[in-house]
Amino acid sequence: MSGDERIVAAVDADGLLGPRFAALPPLSLYVHVPWCIRKCPYCDFNSHEHRGALPEDAYVDALIADLEHALPGIWGRKVGTVCIGGGTPSLLSVASIEQLLSAVRARVPLLPDAEITLEANPGTFERSKFAGFFAAGVNRLSLGVQSFDDRFLRALGRVHDTDEARRAAESALMIFGNVNLDLMFALPGQTVDDARRDVAIALSLAPPHLSFYHLTLEPNTLFHRYPPSLPDDEEAADIEDAVLDMLAQGSYQHYETSAHAKAGYRCRHNVNYWRFGDYLGIGAGAHSKLSFADRVVRQLRWKQPSQYLEQVARGAPLQEETNVARRDLPFEFMLNALRLADGVPASLFAERTGLPISDATRAIAEAARKGLLEPNPTILKPTPLGRRFLNDLQALFLAEAPRDPAHAMPLPADVVRRPAARP
Ligand code: SF4
Repeated sequence: MSGDERIVAAVDADGLLGPRFAALPPLSLYVHVPWCIRKCPYCDFNSHEHRGALPEDAYVDALIADLEHALPGIWGRKVGTVCIGGGTPSLLSVASIEQLLSAVRARVPLLPDAEITLEANPGTFERSKFAGFFAAGVNRLSLGVQSFDDRFLRALGRVHDTDEARRAAESALMIFGNVNLDLMFALPGQTVDDARRDVAIALSLAPPHLSFYHLTLEPNTLFHRYPPSLPDDEEAADIEDAVLDMLAQGSYQHYETSAHAKAGYRCRHNVNYWRFGDYLGIGAGAHSKLSFADRVVRQLRWKQPSQYLEQVARGAPLQEETNVARRDLPFEFMLNALRLADGVPASLFAERTGLPISDATRAIAEAARKGLLEPNPTILKPTPLGRRFLNDLQALFLAEAPRDPAHAMPLPADVVRRPAARP
């Protein structure tokens, strides 16, 4: 390549110089399993109701082929966390999870202490299966409970009931220890006392990690078409305050918008997303964000499971691959980092975007002036007001890089949950 060509290659579509990385961000692996027993009416994830036998063997083979196809893009990089999400990955057999994790270990250098999470649905719970997943190398289980009240489980169209949720949580805690329970609030007809009862049961089980998501009506869901009667904004805010209060008293650190953990149990996989780390996503509809010395790339795999299987067989798992424009990187970074209650060191901006902090200083100053960001130049940390009005805070960085927010880099399905769409 001549010197001139090199200059052309370094400039993006806006005529701006691209990023430059001295070292690449930490890397995570996400594996998407796109099937569920039944589609929940609030869920906008890439999850498909499955009828009949799952094409399980073909899918695991496709995941392995997909990973192999992706290897040149992550060559030599260590993987610190793996998350098998969905959909409902606990529908897969123990043998399939074993085969998948062995294939991952044989192809990428997993750190010895890698966090390996599997998402599970209490409705697919079997104690022996949980023990099998643990023996296969899964060391963290994330259980989509959503509520411990049968009235709300029915309203949410969940396939499990309260007893199953409790038994699944107790077994998970006994077998894995490192367990997350997903719960939702502001459910149809829910009162503050109802929510308090849910939290009290969750606290009595003492999982080291709890995620609480506000139920919202997302486009392309049944609830969006036929909206249930939900608590209004004021009632929802009262419920949220009550929930947060109880969790804080239960010594959970509220470290991210929806995540609460006992000391030492933050979800390392999600923290890597929020610190704008890299992730390779394999499986139907999975997203990736990968950094190279002079660019950041995002990828989307084919969404429909049958199409994904066909395309992988042709050696073409990617539906889309694009370079992230320089003007988009500050917003993409802030969209993630500002979700963290402790914020991030200001130096992380340059490390993870490959850009100088001057690309964001105007918006940082504006956010501090509005009282949304701490006025400390060494840290990027939302104030309590900034946490409450997080969308407004993040939007200031959009103003820095004007463009359509709909084109913001999508976070993987296991991070953006509006509402929580966990198995
Ligand atoms: S919420 Fe979870 S279990 Fe329900 S359809 Fe979505 S991914 Fe499946």
